Amino acid sequence: MLTTIIYRSHICANVPVKALEEMVAAANITNRQSDVTGILLFNGTHFFQLLEGPEESVTAIYQHICKDARHYNVVELLYDYAPSRRFGNVGMELFDLRRYDRQEVLQQVLDKGTTRFQLAYNDRALQFFRTFVEATEKENYYEIPPGDSWEFIPQEDAFSQQPAVVAKGADCSFAFQPIVDPFTLNVVSWEALVRTPSGGSPGDYFASLNDCDVYESDLKSKQVALSMASALGLQGQTLSLNLLPMTLVNVPGAVNFLLREIEANGLVPEQIIIEFTESEVISRLNEFKGAVRELKSAGISVAIDHFGAGFAGLLLLAQFQPDRIKINRELVADVHKSGPRQAIIQAIIKCCSSLEIQFCAVGVEKAEEWMWLESAGISEFQGHLFASPRLGGIPPIAWPEKKFEF
Ligand code: C2E
Ligand code: MN
Repeated sequence: MLTTIIYRSHICANVPVKALEEMVAAANITNRQSDVTGILLFNGTHFFQLLEGPEESVTAIYQHICKDARHYNVVELLYDYAPSRRFGNVGMELFDLRRYDRQEVLQQVLDKGTTRFQLAYNDRALQFFRTFVEATEKENYYEIPPGDSWEFIPQEDAFSQQPAVVAKGADCSFAFQPIVDPFTLNVVSWEALVRTPSGGSPGDYFASLNDCDVYESDLKSKQVALSMASALGLQGQTLSLNLLPMTLVNVPGAVNFLLREIEANGLVPEQIIIEFTESEVISRLNEFKGAVRELKSAGISVAIDHFGAGFAGLLLLAQFQPDRIKINRELVADVHKSGPRQAIIQAIIKCCSSLEIQFCAVGVEKAEEWMWLESAGISEFQGHLFASPRLGGIPPIAWPEKKFEF
């Protein structure tokens, strides 16, 4: 199937522009052999390339291009299918935008096209050309240094050196993982993640329960989380707890139970954030909103977890505004390479900023992901890059340290 990929990237500082022509000549030969055609635009700093051809060949060539050391910050903007080639004449043509008058450059590019009719209308690929040529999105082309320009070495501290806490006799345990602000070197909150007593996942824990016990156990487990947090000395810290949205609706007196346990463990409601996954919320929204009213009036904050993972999403934000949202791992993964993920995260940030909702990114594993997210305006992060959950204890945190100047 005729497949189109569009990407943009930065030229490396040490690449002479003259070398580009040789590069394109070489690309021409390989592309022709694989029946791939396209056009490469260059504005002096950035490349913008369209590749089209059979899917396997286009993806293979794109993967090869991603590894090319002559450019960096390669971001895939479009992956789509089309009935015919837009630029079918040559294997690859280089088009240096600087050689053309700004007013006519887009037309000059389009004149290279082989399907003029399609190019002239609402084709997404064409619109990408327009934004690149007119540089209307340029402020979003963040320059991300290489991942290994930062070091992440877990640092033990008084919290992490405590012996692990064991919840004796309980049917569950908890692992703790921080949400961090690497710029201010602060822990924003400690999230308690349910485990089986031997450290099994939340999935294992919930699978061990009868269906009718799920909500009750979800709530009761928070007694264990709070007492472990207290034993670990988290009194002065913010603590994030996960609950199924329907736990508060289905278990009578759930909020009072939480408040009693918070107090019994020497904690206060103002330091507690309850995180809800949006999955079940929307079907019984009014009851859920009632439970949230109770939490909020007691001083507890509310976060929507896994935001963007596909359930209620934006509609939920129209109906109810939490104090915080956590941007899901699936959007965060490889965000530095993906135009669609970047656009979605930027929209979430804009939306949360307008609504004064705090936001953090979850599941950050790569330095490049963190750097891109930080450039986009996110300051709070959770993920293995900084600290992995530790069963019954507080993990050491790896604060980013610059390895060399860039
Ligand atoms: P969550 O609230 O989004 O918790 C974060 C999950 O992401 C945790 O998985 C954590 O181990 C994992 N994680 C953290 N950093 C990274 C990373 O860099 N990469 C990757 N791939 N994963 C990372 P965990 O502990 O397996 O928890 C899974 C989910 O189970 C939680 O997602 C939460 O929705 C749910 N859960 C956890 N504890 C409870 C609970 O007490 N009650 C309820 N109802 N649900 C819970
Ligand atoms: Mn969570």
